[in-house]
Amino acid sequence: MPLYEYEVCDGDCAICGGKFTLRRPVDAPELTRCPACKKPVRKIISSFNTPTKLKPLSISDAKQAGFTVLKRVSKGEYERQ
Ligand SMILES: [Zn+2]
Repeated sequence: MPLYEYEVCDGDCAICGGKFTLRRPVDAPELTRCPACKKPVRKIISSFNTPTKLKPLSISDAKQAGFTVLKRVSKGEYERQ
């Protein structure tokens, strides 16, 4: 079962701390309220515990995503671009 992370939409929650993780079946309906306090919650999109496919990124994609792109200048050496 995947692990989902939720946060309370408005304010915080003394019971769940405003943020909690829940293990739910994939086919379970979207959780819209904190099971403890019934406040509206939203799912936090995270790569945590989700199967990720490694796809080749282009340098511009990586830069857009905030990565520091390292150029290989010679064997074993990298240069910060
Ligand atoms: Zn709560």
